Amino acid sequence: MAEIREFKTESKRLLELMIHSIYTNREIFLRELISNASDAIDKHHFLSLTDEAIRRPDEYQILLEVDQKERKLSIIDNGIGMTYEELVNSLGTIAKSGSSEFLDKIKDKNDKEALEIIGQFGVGFYSAFMVAEEVEVRTKSPYSEKGYLFRSSGIETYEIEELKSIPEGTKITLNLRKNSKEESYDEFIEEYAIKRLVKKYSDYIRYPIRMEVGKSVPKKDQEGNDIKGEFEEVKEIETLNSMTPIWRKQKKDITEEELNSFYKQKYFDYQDPLTSIYINVEGALNYIALVYIPKKAPFNLYSDKYEKGLQLYSKGVFIMDKCKDLLPDYLRFIRGLVDSGDLPLNISREVLQKNREIEKIAGNVEKKIISKLENLLKNEREKYLEFFETFGVNLKYGVYDNFGEKKELLENLLIYRSIKQDDYLTLKEYLEAMPEEQEYIYYASGKTKEQILALPQMDLIKNKGYDVLILTDDIDEFVMQVMKEYDKKKFKSINQGDLDLLSKDEEKKISELSEDKKSFLEALKEAMPEEVSDVVLSKRLTTSPVCLVSADGLSFEMEKYISNLPSPEKPKATRILELNPKHQLFEALERLFIDNDEDFKDYAEILYSQALLIEGLPLKDPVAFSDKMTNLLIKVSKY
Ligand code: ADP
Repeated sequence: MAEIREFKTESKRLLELMIHSIYTNREIFLRELISNASDAIDKHHFLSLTDEAIRRPDEYQILLEVDQKERKLSIIDNGIGMTYEELVNSLGTIAKSGSSEFLDKIKDKNDKEALEIIGQFGVGFYSAFMVAEEVEVRTKSPYSEKGYLFRSSGIETYEIEELKSIPEGTKITLNLRKNSKEESYDEFIEEYAIKRLVKKYSDYIRYPIRMEVGKSVPKKDQEGNDIKGEFEEVKEIETLNSMTPIWRKQKKDITEEELNSFYKQKYFDYQDPLTSIYINVEGALNYIALVYIPKKAPFNLYSDKYEKGLQLYSKGVFIMDKCKDLLPDYLRFIRGLVDSGDLPLNISREVLQKNREIEKIAGNVEKKIISKLENLLKNEREKYLEFFETFGVNLKYGVYDNFGEKKELLENLLIYRSIKQDDYLTLKEYLEAMPEEQEYIYYASGKTKEQILALPQMDLIKNKGYDVLILTDDIDEFVMQVMKEYDKKKFKSINQGDLDLLSKDEEKKISELSEDKKSFLEALKEAMPEEVSDVVLSKRLTTSPVCLVSADGLSFEMEKYISNLPSPEKPKATRILELNPKHQLFEALERLFIDNDEDFKDYAEILYSQALLIEGLPLKDPVAFSDKMTNLLIKVSKY
């Protein structure tokens, strides 16, 4: 008796999409099913190493079976199969995190857009419904007495039935859809087309993918000799894939095109990688690594569901999918694999963590990636810029991480925009271009170049002809604080601390003036909200009346960034209000102070609010600010 069950709700949208798809890329279904079969064999093989109850077959293989009359295509593997629970959990639900994230991603998209995204993901088993009106899965796991038949048309429900004696493994049978005026499914039962698909998508699958194919051979006479000009059709099993993993070929035999197409197949990208790195090391430690820098960031790179890592093989035998110990966090976007015969096959994740070989390989691979990037920066700048725009923030994270442990390794890979240049420049290029007397590497934080150029404290620096690096990423200032200096030149924010831009004479003048205006400045400070730690005469303003700066240490940008984090601690930058003594506003305020104006405190607060707004910081009480401005306008109108 068949039991009828319903698909989980989250599966239904995906199924619906598959069923209604008229999708030109629907042929990927075969790639998906073959790759599932290959995974299932990997699992079987892996378990057989440690579990005596699991016996290896004479040979692992994936068989394709075509029934042209009934319009059926089957994919058969002798892998791990599924128990009843696994069948329900794997095929009745979207268990796979990738698929559910795919669904998140297409939530607000129409069907056409959603289908365009599928190609990049590979949505697994359900893609079978793009070409089949009904799918049958016959499966038996070594952990289950019985076998099962799963049958479904992909709408709402599926059936499960017990099966008595079936071989271990899984057979998936697709009953192809009927041809319509617009769509034909015939190619999926045609030998030639299937061969082409296997070559295109599954050539490097490590197990033989076999199919019975018709061949025309010369007829034989009674003695067994060929009869000239007469042929007969025979059926022969043929292996369709070449199997040799590309990375185990001789380097000289691997073309760039092969490397790229391997990448696309294996990592489900629809475009070529930015670049690939092939490493073959022989010596005390032997390994091959093939790693890729993608062009685009994987869609979920910054979600906590993303798993970094390289695949791990031992002499061509798959061990593990995402070995995270092979990649530092900041290179999490790298895709690829490591194959080393020096590792035990049945290595566990726990053992791996402390494995010396893995550590060494990881260190080498990291260095190679860095030197490849340095190379790009030097010789293929355009390409490097493309890389940096996508992944630069990861490198910055690499500098920042672990208190700058890797800053020497990475600092030359950082590039910045600046107020004087239209293009990116490296720190080295900044140093080379700077005037001799310039003491610091200046930087400023903000959302855009325009915004930074408009900052009041920019004036003096521009006058001096100094360039200023523009920081637009949240992490930038944290990176500067960790780096502290580059090639013995210290970094300095134009929004923070003392700028050291004035000559001795000018310095002296300001401090004398400060002494002079002491009571006025103190009164202003008194009138300010408590959070203002000081009111001083500015050494950086030329045309603007006022600006807000922070003391060395935590900056405003960092404060804004931290305030958006879910942490309970919200540290604030120390706020220092700077006034331009040459500005008319300074004189005006001083007059009000001397006249003992009743609204002096209000004016002081308006001044502070302005400074906050310029810095892009929120006003604590916008209504109060508006009221004060209103009063001021009314008062002025009475004069
Ligand atoms: P994915 O393979 O990416 O996890 P699928 O939707 O393709 O997603 O498959 C879901 C699950 O179904 C797999 O993770 C696996 O547990 C199971 N499965 C699919 N095909 C097979 C197979 N041929 N043999 C054994 N298990 C399979």
